[in-house]
Amino acid sequence: MNDNAFFREGEFYAIKHLSDEIRAASRSGGVFTALTDAVLNEGGLVFGCALDESFIAYHKAARTADERDGFRGSKYIQSDMRDTITEVAKALAAGERVLFSGTPCQIAGLKSALAVKGLDKAPELITVDILCHGVPSPRVWRDYLDYIEKKHKKKISAVDFRNKTDYGWAAHTETVYFEDGSRYDSTDFRYLFYRHYVLRPSCFECKYKARHVSDITIADAWGIGKAAPDFNDDRGVSLVIPNTERGKELLESVRGRLDVICVDREPMMQDALVRSVERPQNYDEFWSDYQSKGMGRILKKYARDGFKVRFKRGIKKILRMGRK
Ligand SMILES: Cc1cc2nc3c(=O)[nH]c(=O)nc-3n(C[C@H](O)[C@H](O)[C@H](O)COP(=O)(O)OP(=O)(O)OC[C@H]3O[C@@H](n4cnc5c(N)ncnc54)[C@H](O)[C@@H]3O)c2cc1C
Ligand code: SF4
Repeated sequence: MNDNAFFREGEFYAIKHLSDEIRAASRSGGVFTALTDAVLNEGGLVFGCALDESFIAYHKAARTADERDGFRGSKYIQSDMRDTITEVAKALAAGERVLFSGTPCQIAGLKSALAVKGLDKAPELITVDILCHGVPSPRVWRDYLDYIEKKHKKKISAVDFRNKTDYGWAAHTETVYFEDGSRYDSTDFRYLFYRHYVLRPSCFECKYKARHVSDITIADAWGIGKAAPDFNDDRGVSLVIPNTERGKELLESVRGRLDVICVDREPMMQDALVRSVERPQNYDEFWSDYQSKGMGRILKKYARDGFKVRFKRGIKKILRMGRK
């Protein structure tokens, strides 16, 4: 153990990668790139979530920084693990260094599968979990994209679940890019996500909210405005929690690439660190409508505010402007 170590187990850290370019390409502060660069530079393997040609999320391995870059950015749908567990087991059995990143339940699943082969405690394995609100259904996401393509009569060439470039770190607008160079910005899928209609049923009873199963937990540092306002530039700050000695060591090894401060826990707490999200009362009604109505009617009913809410919001806005 290194007595001069900066990181302490269970403490909360706010982190920004020193490279603005890397931060811009990452969901929050870019700590994932720093951690994975260290593993790739040693010839190790990194596992994370990428998008396939249909914009569906799946887990795969990366041996190079270029391959790893596809893991950057949050894909707000459940990632299909495909053959990842077998690949991780093979790499560990061959003595390779492996960094696996994913949701806490994916890490728990990986570890219990590895335990059968006696590999869950392999010293070459390091796990990084993303703090997780819950994962939406990939089927609804794909139906949503089909609806947009049909409505605009254009093929989609790329998607951004949360466009940080144009809206900043804290905002949440999804952008789809079309093959003809135009784009469509919307908050429809975001609302289906945050209103919890499209979340997996297991996310309403998540076992990993107050319990960390990984070596390092990474998240968006939403409390930074209260904890250390000067550290926040709306270009992304990561909240990082080292959970094990191994996690601390990896963080220590990449500290030179990071701007790091230790922060109080209280202002950094968020629901995903405490409790599962609530199942909406009309969850079953949503899914029944989903089977029978088209996406257009689903979005109108569940993703957008009704006339009354919009009217009230408009009045409030006018009153605010009058007070200025
Ligand atoms: C479904 C989902 C829910 C989230 N909920 C919260 C939350 O409640 N609170 C919060 O603070 N942050 C949440 N996040 C954001 C998460 O904290 C950030 O991805 C993390 O901070 C990484 O920041 P970075 O700048 O280092 O990331 P990046 O370099 O952008 O790293 C992206 C990381 O996310 C992983 N990833 C992306 N999409 C998925 C996916 N669908 N499934 C599994 N792994 C994925 C990649 O493998 C990689 O490890 C959520 C992300 C996702 C995908
Ligand atoms: S909320 Fe829990 S159960 Fe749902 S995907 Fe995240 S870690 Fe898994």
